[in-house]
Amino acid sequence: MRVAVVGGGVVGLSTTAALLQRGVDVVCYEQAGEPMAQRSAGSSRIFRLAHALPDLVRLAAVARAGFGRWESASRTSLIGRSGCVISGEQMPVWAAAMAAAGAAHEVVDGASDGLRLPARTPPSEALLDPVGGVIDVDAVRAHLTELTRGAVLRAQAYALEDSRGGATVWSSAGEARFDAVLLAAGAGTSPLAAQVGIYTPPALAHHVRFTFPFDSPVAWQCWIDTPSTDLGTYQHQTGPGSWAVGGHLDPALTAWEVGREAATTASRDAVLAYARRHLAVEPRIVDSLYCVTTPDLGDGFEFRRNGPILAVYGENLFKFAPLLGDVLAAACVDGSTPAVPDVALNY
Ligand SMILES: Cc1cc2nc3c(=O)[nH]c(=O)nc-3n(C[C@H](O)[C@H](O)[C@H](O)COP(=O)(O)OP(=O)(O)OC[C@H]3O[C@@H](n4cnc5c(N)ncnc54)[C@H](O)[C@@H]3O)c2cc1C
Repeated sequence: MRVAVVGGGVVGLSTTAALLQRGVDVVCYEQAGEPMAQRSAGSSRIFRLAHALPDLVRLAAVARAGFGRWESASRTSLIGRSGCVISGEQMPVWAAAMAAAGAAHEVVDGASDGLRLPARTPPSEALLDPVGGVIDVDAVRAHLTELTRGAVLRAQAYALEDSRGGATVWSSAGEARFDAVLLAAGAGTSPLAAQVGIYTPPALAHHVRFTFPFDSPVAWQCWIDTPSTDLGTYQHQTGPGSWAVGGHLDPALTAWEVGREAATTASRDAVLAYARRHLAVEPRIVDSLYCVTTPDLGDGFEFRRNGPILAVYGENLFKFAPLLGDVLAAACVDGSTPAVPDVALNY
């Protein structure tokens, strides 16, 4: 069997690795000079079991086991053990989802010894996810690069056709036929999927994460704080003395049409104001990470198929990568379309 994976982000590479493990002949098309350069760029992400839905909590637990297998194979720690804290208006819903999924968690008050946050005033109540921690993206990239060596083709796929029981991919490297194609091209998925009659949400938005210095030897927990309806924050330690804050603003401020510059300015203003008011960090931005996201999807993923071509889309996918790789590789081989609730039940 011959499979094409379009996109060498963390999802495409994880799937390529899982296909190779099944003995499948696979070509992973990646247009950038190196894999994991777009939405999967940077050196860190948050891993957490905590989600708003019990299915996503269960799926994250399966993904954590997958990271564990990668850790054993690479003999490298891929996820830190700081834990993750959730505070703000969504906290009770996430706590209920953790309880329904049977995941270890604790709801504590702000005075608890269990909280280690760079907060000027601790939240009145918070959910503790002890399994959460910082994903070492550089180490994941190194592991997946090793596993997929020889299967990644530096080329841009620009056209697809479902033909004669298989699919043809036209790319900057020429034309090739495959038995199955997976579209895992992040922001590039929707235009390719549309060519073969698959709808994936086409809207794009801008997202920027900012890093602040702080002076403390403490290992802070990852922190998801929603201080108001206007701002949600995803925060974690990116290294000794550096704290990253990604802000989720009113979607109108970061919509694609607003433009990268205006969206970056709005994000910087909101995150800086939040840092000044709420965080015990120096209110000085020392680094930033920009990416193109798909608005309104929140956490989680979806799969869509037409004939031999399968597309995956979603947001905050890094933490699910080992699970997605396995599920997508199996679907490429058996021609099925996984449904998210079934995935949660079957694993
Ligand atoms: C600042 C920031 C913070 C985040 N925080 C978290 C977090 O804490 N936890 C979490 O789980 N997730 C987080 N995410 C989201 C997560 O990183 C992404 O969901 C995940 O990396 C997406 O991976 P992907 O493989 O789907 O997409 P991508 O990494 O974008 O990969 C798609 C690849 O396809 C290639 N491509 C596109 N079109 C074509 C084409 N036509 N031909 C060939 N190649 C093509 C691109 O070059 C790209 O490399 C964050 C993202 C950002 C940017």
